[in-house]
Order: sequence, then C-alpha cells, then structure tokens
Amino acid sequence: MNFEDLEIIEPIIKALKLEGYTHPTPIQQKSIPILLHGRDLLGCAQTGTGKTAAFAIPILQQIYLDPNKDKSHRKVRTLIITPTRELAIQIGESFTTYGKFTGIKNTVIFGGVKQGKQTQALSRGVDVLVATPGRLLDLMNQGFISLKEIDFFVLDEADRMLDMGFIHDIRKILAKLPNKRQSLFFSATMAPNIVALSNKILGNPQKVSVKPEQTTAEKVGQSIYFVAKKIKPSLLIHLLQSKGSGSTLVFSRTKHGANKIVKLLAKANIVADAIHGNKSQVARQKALSNFKSGQIKVLVATDIAARGIDVDKLAMVINYDLPNIPETYVHRIGRTGRASESGIAVSFCDSEERAYLKDIQKLIGQQIPVIEDHPFKDAHHSEPEKSSTKPQPSNPRHPRRNSNNNNGNKSRWNPRKSNPRSSR
Ligand code: AMP
Repeated sequence: MNFEDLEIIEPIIKALKLEGYTHPTPIQQKSIPILLHGRDLLGCAQTGTGKTAAFAIPILQQIYLDPNKDKSHRKVRTLIITPTRELAIQIGESFTTYGKFTGIKNTVIFGGVKQGKQTQALSRGVDVLVATPGRLLDLMNQGFISLKEIDFFVLDEADRMLDMGFIHDIRKILAKLPNKRQSLFFSATMAPNIVALSNKILGNPQKVSVKPEQTTAEKVGQSIYFVAKKIKPSLLIHLLQSKGSGSTLVFSRTKHGANKIVKLLAKANIVADAIHGNKSQVARQKALSNFKSGQIKVLVATDIAARGIDVDKLAMVINYDLPNIPETYVHRIGRTGRASESGIAVSFCDSEERAYLKDIQKLIGQQIPVIEDHPFKDAHHSEPEKSSTKPQPSNPRHPRRNSNNNNGNKSRWNPRKSNPRSSR
C-alpha cells in the first residue's frame, strides 16, 4: 500500500515524498481512511509508530479541501493537546512538514516561556493549534484563544496526561469545545480511567490498535561491542570485511561523522555512500537507489536521512554511534528484520555512550548480548561501567518499559543464535 491508495491529496503526497516516506505505517493505513470519513478515533498506539502523521495528514487534508475555508481570516479549527512541550514542538514541526504545500498554518503554545511570541503568532491567525494544557487554559482565560470554532480535536498521549495530573485541565478544556467536532484520542495504554476519559470525548469511535515498535527488537539479532571511540573505524572495517556480504546500513549520529566513515571505508577499499541532511535530495535519492539495487553494499546514514529507508533484505544494521534517544535505536534496528525476515543489528558503545545503552535496554526490556571475542578488544573498555553519568537528559517524550530480562547475557559472535525469539 502507498499513500496514493489512501487517497491523500497531491500537496501532501509531495511533502511526504520529500520526507522520504514511501509507505504508510500500519497505524497510518488503519487510521487515515477512518479519519477522512469524519469518524472519531480511539487509537491505542505509542510514539514511534508514525501516529503523528496518522492524525496530521487527514486533518490537513480535510482543512485543505473544506469549501467554506476563509483564507483571509484564519481561525483555530484544530486543537491538539499533548502533555509536554517537546512533544508539542514535534507535533507542530510535523504539521509544518506535511502541510508544507497546503498553506495551512500551525502554532505551538506551552508554558515555561514568555507568552508574547505565542500570542503574536495567534493574533496573526492559525489553523492548527498544538498546546500543553496549562498554557492553553491561561491564554484562553486571557481571551487570546477561543475554542468555539474547533472542528478537529486531538488528545495525544492520554495516559501520560493522566499520569501528569492534567485531568482537571482537560475537563476545563473539554467544557469549552463545541459538540460538533471530530475527536481523536491516543494512548499507549487503555486502563479503565483512560477508557472512561475517552468515553467523555469521543462519539461512537472506530478503534485502532497497533503494536508498539519495540516488538521489532524481538526479531532482530542484536549484539553490542564495548570499544574505545578510536577503535571504532577498525572494528567497522573488520566487521564489513568478515560479515558484511549483504547490504549494510551504518548509522552515524552526525552528518560530519557519516562523511568521515565513508572516507575511512574508501581507504579500506569498501565502497560506501552517505545520506544526510546536508546532501541534496538528488544525491540522497541516488545513494539510496544504488544501495537498494545492490550497487553499493554499504550506506552510511544519519537518523534524519534514514527515515523511510526500506530496503528488502537489509542484512545488517551497524550503530557506529549509539543514539541518545532510545526509541531511535528501535527505529534504526527495525530497518533490518522487516516483515517476516530476521536481521542483525550490531552496536558500538564507547565509554561516553554507556548511559544511552542503559536507556535503550530499559526501553526494549532486554539486555543486549555483548560480543567479547573480537580482535579489537580494549581491556579498559571491554566491561561496562557500573555507573555512568548521563551525557544528556533523555527525551521526556517517551514512556519507558521496565527491563524484564536483566540476565547479563554475554555471547560470542552469533547474534541470531543469542536471540531466543529469532529462529530464522
Ligand atoms: P511518531 O510515532 O509520530 O513519533 O513517528 C515516529 C517516526 O516515524 C518519526 O521520525 C516520523 O518522521 C517517522 N515516520 C512517520 N511516518 C512515516 C512513514 N510513513 N514512513 C517513514 N517514516 C515515518
């Protein structure tokens, strides 16, 4: 299935293509038709599933196609409530990205900053408002926002909203919404209090549930090498020369790093190309099509550019650098092991990345097997430190799963075998 099959309009398709989205994710496949038919939606899905686009695309499309739209006088017609400012910003960015060719405007409001810029944006006129509850109520009380004209209402991450004690704010906001509207409700879990809240908001909703992407982690054979930063190039070359007969996607945290990796591989006579945000769209497409066709076996990517990369039979993903956002790890390794295939994901972890690894293992509920037996073992770096300082605060946007398999599993090279869920 592609986005055209979902009857998405051309200006949005064009924006999705620019983002490198080729196929809708399962939640998008399920939700977009329901929403384009004007139905309310109860979505059991968490972040990483593509749920933002699942609601942003049909909302943008309906606003765009509305014959009664008055372009000269914008009014807030869509309200998205979300628990944190980070999430609000990301949702706003998604609307900007997907709505690039629609002329639809959004703005984001959240607390903890001065309100001036936010009220100025509101007075210039917006179609879509993304807000955290406290600041929204504050600006409503000051008369900057009216919810009278809301046609689309989204409550995102409802479970976190309740955990964060927003229930009273949500009730106050609901009381100001018009009865005639389309409502969307997303939550990662559906505890009784969440269901009760959803019943207050939705009218005869269609239900959509998608498995969190974490399940991907279960069918990919994962392993980790504790290595010093300076050893990473040699280990990469060694792995590509000894194991890398199939297509391999190498992830670098930075664009500069990706270019450096391509150069060092070239010195070892390994042909590779890089895709990242500094490359032109044409260069990115060319690298990707060469990789997909098997002309180049190694592609080095940053996370931004890796979005939408969907290569049949991708043999291996190598995390040259560990991502600082744990969900990104799941997203990266999900490039391999797609559909019914199993795959291999190898990660390098230097001493500064230990805290990232800890977060990743917590999220996937798994201890990633450590490869001890390799020629680049560094005595000072082979064992994980007991405690390490966090290099950067982790993304507060995402809920964490508790680890349930802390068996300190260590293995020799054979990631498929070391993964009990991977039998193929
Ligand atoms: P979300 O669950 O909305 O936070 O999305 C998770 C990630 O998936 C984000 O980085 C999106 O940009 C990306 N994404 C969403 N939909 C697609 C798609 N159809 N193809 C590729 N990437 C996508």
